[in-house]
Amino acid sequence: MFSADEYCASVWLNSSHVHKVDAQLNNTMRMIAGVIQSTPKEWLPVLSHIPPPNLRRINALIGEYNKIQQNQNLPIRSWQQEWSAKQNISIPCITHEPPGFHLPRKSRSALNRVRIEHGRCANAMHKWGKAPTPFCEFGAIQAVRHIVKECPRTAYSAKPENFLTATPESIAYLQFTECLSLKSFD
Ligand SMILES: [Zn+2]
Repeated sequence: MFSADEYCASVWLNSSHVHKVDAQLNNTMRMIAGVIQSTPKEWLPVLSHIPPPNLRRINALIGEYNKIQQNQNLPIRSWQQEWSAKQNISIPCITHEPPGFHLPRKSRSALNRVRIEHGRCANAMHKWGKAPTPFCEFGAIQAVRHIVKECPRTAYSAKPENFLTATPESIAYLQFTECLSLKSFD
């Protein structure tokens, strides 16, 4: 009965139907303790020598969580390792939120597009048939990389890693490119 109760409890322990399960478990505890239906509930775990069901479920959740934390063979682990090996960057793989995750959507969007060097720059827009030329005003192919690293008008002078760690000053730069009405990040 109790092992059935804990089956996948981590998924449903906050369900509004938990009281129905608890009613069954209370009956079981009454049966084990040999007490009658009207026995106050707080006696049941003590007399049946079974911890309260809600605590057992929380324990099951914690146990499962710890098991996952410690298991090095989970597919997500190898994915995380692959990510770290391949990207070699300071954005943690799922274990923590990426830096700047709580910035206003507009800034976060611009930040991510600069990070992956993929956005609506003239080059991309031209490829998609939405811009007449792929060039910036200086005649260079306007890719995101060009905007951020090369273009005399907009290039970012500090370390590009700042975008990965979302330093305040790199966020300010993104706002600056917006002030220049550079529509590339829209
Ligand atoms: Zn340029």
